[in-house]
Amino acid sequence: MSYTIFRTFQFHPFLLYPTSILKPRNRFFFSTTTKATQTKVPTSTQSKKLDKIPKDYEAVIGIETHVQLSTLTKAFCSCPYSYGSFPNSSICPVCMGLPGALPVLNSKVIEFAVKLGLALKCNLAFNSKFDRKQYFYPDLPKGYQISQFDVPIAAAGFLDVDIPLEFGGGHKRFGITRVHMEEDAGKLMHAENGNFSRVDLNRAGVPLLEIVSEPDMRNGIEASEYAAELQRLVRYLGVSNGNMQEGSLRCDVNVSVRPIGQSKFGTKVEVKNLNSFASMSRAIDFEISRQVLLHSQGQEDQIVQETRLWEEGSQNQTFHQ
Ligand SMILES: [Zn+2]
Repeated sequence: MSYTIFRTFQFHPFLLYPTSILKPRNRFFFSTTTKATQTKVPTSTQSKKLDKIPKDYEAVIGIETHVQLSTLTKAFCSCPYSYGSFPNSSICPVCMGLPGALPVLNSKVIEFAVKLGLALKCNLAFNSKFDRKQYFYPDLPKGYQISQFDVPIAAAGFLDVDIPLEFGGGHKRFGITRVHMEEDAGKLMHAENGNFSRVDLNRAGVPLLEIVSEPDMRNGIEASEYAAELQRLVRYLGVSNGNMQEGSLRCDVNVSVRPIGQSKFGTKVEVKNLNSFASMSRAIDFEISRQVLLHSQGQEDQIVQETRLWEEGSQNQTFHQ
């Protein structure tokens, strides 16, 4: 089965834009793919420049977290999901999106969503619904993701976080905009030479909760402490194993900066590829410094709304996707 699917995408005559279509959408899932080439700024020069940044700017950070639910079966079919199992060994007509297959909601998904919604002090929607989010990508066999749009299951809550003493201490309350249910997509595995990609649909249809925070965080530590608290919460509630390495907890961060005193938000940049709390904190602080530097040099027009990927290790910087 896996090879049929793989060949379909590899040789399909309608695939007009193979390179752009099969480009990793989110490098978080494809950490082994070739790294984007870009001119490296030596770290020493960079930190020297960043040290001189004036302190009259503030950062505004919001976080979207996807939590994979540890239900026994997927969201709309009876296929089990276990991380790392053989590709396409846990699929059926429903999660493969075959014509005529009808999804049946797993009641555990609602139960877990309500649990997390209550733990985040949200208002629950007693009438909720699912919506179709259409997009075309080979990891999404139906051509749309079942998600929630205008009536999320839970909204308007908050999460209390204690900042560790070594980072200044204190108690912070971060707003939760919404929590909604959706299904995960499959996974593409890109060949080393970049000539083809294989599709694994084991993850397609696995239930997720997306937790959207208010833009309440101001630095990398606050953001990573928020995410760490969320991880503790989902583990305590038993709704997810919260393992970042397995992709069970994934954070996308929106970062913008503005001069202190300005109420209007600056242009926000999305940062992805954050697979640990430490890298999350470092990535955000780097991105803040990068934006503040551009601001202080009068080049704020160079901050554009985009998705940047965090490169952990030798580079330790965000770069355009
Ligand atoms: Zn299935």
